[in-house]
Amino acid sequence: MNAVAIIGGGQAGIQAAASLRQEGYAGALTVIAAESGIPYQRPPLSKEFMKPEQEGNVLSLREPEFYADHGIDLLTGVRAEIIDRAAHSVVLDNADRVSYDRLVLATGTRNRQLSCAGSELPGIHGLRELRDAMTLQEELRTARNVVVIGAGFIGLEFATAALAFGVSVTVLEFAPRPMGRALTPVMSEWFAAELRSMGIDLRLNEGIREFTSGPDGRVAAAVSTTGDTYAADLVVVGIGVIPNVELAEASGLATGNGIVVDETLRSSDPDIFAIGDCASFPSIHSGGMIRLESVQNATDQAKHVAKVLTAGERPYAELPWFYTHQGPLRLQMTGLPGTDEDYVVLGDPGTRRFSVLGFRDGVLAAVESVNMPGHQNIGRRLLTTGPSVTLDQAREPRFDLRQALK
Ligand code: FAD
Repeated sequence: MNAVAIIGGGQAGIQAAASLRQEGYAGALTVIAAESGIPYQRPPLSKEFMKPEQEGNVLSLREPEFYADHGIDLLTGVRAEIIDRAAHSVVLDNADRVSYDRLVLATGTRNRQLSCAGSELPGIHGLRELRDAMTLQEELRTARNVVVIGAGFIGLEFATAALAFGVSVTVLEFAPRPMGRALTPVMSEWFAAELRSMGIDLRLNEGIREFTSGPDGRVAAAVSTTGDTYAADLVVVGIGVIPNVELAEASGLATGNGIVVDETLRSSDPDIFAIGDCASFPSIHSGGMIRLESVQNATDQAKHVAKVLTAGERPYAELPWFYTHQGPLRLQMTGLPGTDEDYVVLGDPGTRRFSVLGFRDGVLAAVESVNMPGHQNIGRRLLTTGPSVTLDQAREPRFDLRQALK
């Protein structure tokens, strides 16, 4: 293997390049990155970066000199347009070609767009790239009424960050609870109460019907599905993402909810792999095909593919975990919670230090914790090396998570 090309300069793509070098790969290594500038971390965009005192510090994934120092040919501001599988090369939008023996797709996702009336008005934004965050930072300084569409992780991180700018914040969520697809009902309901106590007007079971504009042509109000109207001079839409599969699809690779890969993260072409947010992979933790959107998943899959390319086949089996910071609220999750599984609460939610254990088929499948890092560490050990914890055990009045390790 003399040449590896990576498409995508995000968390997964850059980690794959770094890990390949770490694993001893010495051949040509090219990263094709559509965004301009030094590759950066996305999670701070809705957290540290979105603070009033923020002075434009972007958290880069690696120092600028890292790429040259490690012989990584980083092509920024250039898109891969075609994968020419027969020629083993990638055609770029500047008509250049990058040859590969092995290709890694790390194309991530893009924001799902609203299509209601007024959704194109000035003042309505998504949050995914650095330039989105910079626009929002600037507009928050003059905004008074912020409306967030969608109570998912990114929408709520932005909503809590926006409070520090002294604006009023309304969140419209079509579903009956916030972060409902990812959290157990008890955790999601606890968050709803906390977010409201912070001053967020959280409207559940209420979607967006249309936006109306003011005399300046900018968004002025959001009209919800209940007919209620909310003043809005700045709107953030956080209604989920769509995996970037089109490049893979056009070259004939199998796609579904993502680029379909096997347990080694190899696509339907043996020389092409897919990792991170764009990959749909078989998970031993869910028992089926899943696609995850997290730093952990992007990082671990990148490390894994580097091992497969340098040291041979092996199945990917890392335990998923995730974190979100919403103002003072710090949530960590380990494992894959279902939404209608059984659960047991450890600790007192009123103290803002507690965990929720989620059970699938009567066996521990996930641990969600607020300000309980110790529970997360134990949860990770239990969910990787065991022993397994049953619902009946956890329901015992004297159940102690630490004891379960023994
Ligand atoms: P991305 O980071 O999306 O990178 C993909 C890159 O590929 C993009 O730069 C894209 O431009 C490029 N690309 C696509 N197509 C092409 C092409 N044809 N040619 C060249 N380049 C291409 N996760 C957490 O775990 N915790 C958090 O708190 C958290 N907070 C987040 C906050 C925000 C605001 C956002 C947006 C995400 C957050 N995430 C969080 C999710 C996390 O950032 C993603 O899961 C992670 O970035 C995925 O990495 P990736 O490399 O797969 O995709």
